[in-house]
Amino acid sequence: MQSKIIVAIDGHSSCGKSTMAKWLARQVGYIYIDTGAMYRTITLFALRNGFITSAGIDEAGLKAALDKVKVSFTLDPDTHLPLACLNGEVVESQIRGMEVSNNVSPIAALPFVREVMTAQQQQMGQDKGIVMDGRDIGTAVFPDAELKIFVTASAEVRARRRYDELIGKGETDINLDDIRRNVEERDYIDSHREVNPLRQAPDALILDNSHMTKDEQNEWLLSHFNECVAAQQQ
Ligand code: C5P
Repeated sequence: MQSKIIVAIDGHSSCGKSTMAKWLARQVGYIYIDTGAMYRTITLFALRNGFITSAGIDEAGLKAALDKVKVSFTLDPDTHLPLACLNGEVVESQIRGMEVSNNVSPIAALPFVREVMTAQQQQMGQDKGIVMDGRDIGTAVFPDAELKIFVTASAEVRARRRYDELIGKGETDINLDDIRRNVEERDYIDSHREVNPLRQAPDALILDNSHMTKDEQNEWLLSHFNECVAAQQQ
């Protein structure tokens, strides 16, 4: 039997990590976990419960309430893709809007939030056979992952892709400059936070997909996956 590995895909905001991670997981029959969706779901909880206001984040309140938050995934019966749930409610579309996007990075920078999320993610990957994407998977969640990939692309390309994605989902009240600002701001906060900042693991393979088609990217990914699995068998 083929041995199962952990695939850790990290990188900047909106560079297509989730799309490629989802594709690979389906292709090779692995579980896919979108850790950004987990931080987005906590952020939605914080917004709904008044822990984020114009005055800032009520950290003590959020910390005390965190044990009442259950973040999980359920499979969409039609697409078989995972949908994020907050205490059992499917919140996939709510977590993708601009309000959550504008607040998620400061919430994800809170050490007590990262501690809880990291422990859950490690639990999810304990049997391997998983493709996980995020910012700190190859550096903090699974530093021993067999295959680590660090994805990036220019800010212009990433903002345009996110804009097209939101338009495709029927959002009308968005503009490209706001999205670009959001992408750059999240990169800054993610790379400068104290706990587990966004970093390329020294043993990660870099993929700059600014000028790659999806097919080229998928081919690159699958060939590295196969190579890595073959190396484990030896
Ligand atoms: O991947 P996505 O862009 O949906 O992630 C949303 C936000 O969650 C990121 O901007 C980042 O602040 C945070 N995040 C994180 N660590 C992860 C995954 C996401 O801090 N492993």
